[in-house]
Order: sequence, then structure tokens, then C-alpha cells
Amino acid sequence: MSTSKLAIIAGLFAFACSRPGAEQQTGGSMTTSKTHEYAIVIHGGAGTILREEMSPEKEAAYKAALNAALDIGEKILKDGGSAMDAVEQTIRSLEDNPLFNAGKGAVFNHDGKNELDASFMDGATRNAGAVGGVTIVRNPITLARAVMEQSPHVMLTGRGAEAFAIENGIDTVAPSYFFTQERWDALQRAKAVEKQKESESGMPAKANHKMGTVGCVVRDKQGNLAAGTSTGGMTNKRWNRLGDSPVIGAGTFADNNTCAVSCTGHGEFFIRYVVAYDVAALMDYKNLSLEDATHTVVMDKLVKAGGEGGLIAVDKNGNVAMPFNSEGMYRGYSRPGERVVEIYK
Ligand code: ASP
Repeated sequence: MSTSKLAIIAGLFAFACSRPGAEQQTGGSMTTSKTHEYAIVIHGGAGTILREEMSPEKEAAYKAALNAALDIGEKILKDGGSAMDAVEQTIRSLEDNPLFNAGKGAVFNHDGKNELDASFMDGATRNAGAVGGVTIVRNPITLARAVMEQSPHVMLTGRGAEAFAIENGIDTVAPSYFFTQERWDALQRAKAVEKQKESESGMPAKANHKMGTVGCVVRDKQGNLAAGTSTGGMTNKRWNRLGDSPVIGAGTFADNNTCAVSCTGHGEFFIRYVVAYDVAALMDYKNLSLEDATHTVVMDKLVKAGGEGGLIAVDKNGNVAMPFNSEGMYRGYSRPGERVVEIYK
């Protein structure tokens, strides 16, 4: 082949690789080099979502709730609103929906109470706020954001967090607001199983994992990232147990230079493996794509450790990832012209 023909072929190849939207194969996963104007990703919890217990009506209700939440966040983003506003408002709608284990519909602890945890992070500044074990705050995600914006601290818990909520005019409710029969029945079942296991082994039984935590990560039109997570934790939890959801770096993380992440699953593992930050660190230090970093953490590290769950993530270009190693994860995302809502693999 002549040198000039070779030069033309090389030029065409370089053009194809650099054009917006060109796709590259990176370590077995597809990463697009196109920058999406905005992207919003949500989850409604990962875990054992038994297909036999999922009626078509129930599945439709979950999908409708996920779509409604995405609609709220997407409208804010289309109108040029901030990633932080989109995260907060989207999570509020999931907290208000009794289908999910966050806000109304949160699981019960061992004493028959609802203790709520949430965290919030701004990727532009790496400011963050979190609350743990609150019992009267209608939307813990709003309180987590207020801790970030209106207090000198990052994490408040229990009665102090509630006093801060009242002082700052955050909506409070009677603890009975969070009651749902389904979660109450789940606690009774968990206690019965616990009793049986304890009498068999003579050891305290482990907390029982139920899914339904909610989370949202966003890239807005300005290129800013934000992340939030909200949960009632695990059914039958005791001793003021906190999971990963209110822990920045474990359940939630955002940094404009890498990604925004929100996790769901067996919180003790997500704390020990610092899951949300580990994804960002792999991107930062090892230059992995979002797809490869999230896959490494969820499908490799967590699987080896025995940590069940998943996460949602978005990077600075609006690439999204939603890996999980459990049976299912309520999840979805929207980008201009794209909408995906799924439960199973
Ligand atoms: N990660 C949450 C916790 O451990 C529970 C969940 O995501 O379902 O509190």
C-alpha cells in the first residue's frame, strides 16, 4: 500500500476515535467518550427480591415510583437546575413513597421503632452532610443537606440531629408517620427467625437484610456531580446500629473529578470496604473507567468478601453504572433521550 493511502487510513482512524460519541472497548466494558448533557441515576435498594413474591401489580407500582422519581429529577436538570437540587428532590419523592425503606415505609428496629439515616455530598466542593438514627424527621435527605449547608459539621446523630432539624425549620412528624403494616410484619418474621436461630445455636442471630434503601446520583448541565442516600437501615437492627448509608465514603461519595456514588446492600461490608470512595479512588489512582471501577468493587471485591448489594454511579461525562451482586436492584437512569428502569438482571 502506498504511503499516502496509509496516511489517509491513519487519519480516518484518528478521527473515528476522537469524534464525540465514539465508543471504546475498555477491559471488557463499553465506555462512551461522549459527554451527556445531564444524567440522573437512582436506586430503590438491592437484595433478595424474590420473583415469586413479585406480582405484576407490585412490579408495575415499583416501576411507576422509580419513573416518577426520575421525572422529578430530570425536570430540574432539563431546566438547568443543580445536581444537588435534583438529588434532594428525587430522594424526597422516594422517601415519601411507602414502597421503599426510607422515610415513610422505613423498616423497624428491634424495639419496633423507625430510625432513619441519610447522607448527601456535593461533588463540586466535596462538602458533605449526614444524619443517623433520627426518628421524627420526615425527609432525612433534606436534613443531611441542611447539616452540610447550615452547620459546621458533617455528621449528626439521634436527638442532637433532631434538635438541629427543629432549630432549622426542617419538617418533623410523629414517629407513627413512618409505620407501615408490611414492615411491621417483616419485623415480627425476623424476630421469630432470630428466636429460632438463637435457641438452635445459643448465639445472637445476625441482623436480617431487607432491601429498599434509596439513592440518587447526578451530573448536571454545568458538569457538577452530587450524590445522596437515605434508608431505614436493616430490619431488627439493635443498639443504635448505623450502616453505610450515613457514612460518607462508604455509602455515598461525590467528587467532580471522578464520580458520584450511592450504595445499597449489607452495610457492614460497605463500611469495611469503603465502597463508594473505593470506586472514586480506582478512577483517580488507576485511571479506570467508571464501568471498570464499579465492576471491580461490586462484582469482584465485594463478592469475595461476601458483601451482598450494589451501587449506582455517574462520572463527569455522564457515563452511568448500576452493578449489583444480589438477585435484584430497583434502579433506573435518565439522560437526554434515554430512560431505563429495571429490577432484575
Ligand atoms: N445499606 C443499608 C444499611 O446497611 C441497607 C440497604 O441498602 O438495604 O443500612
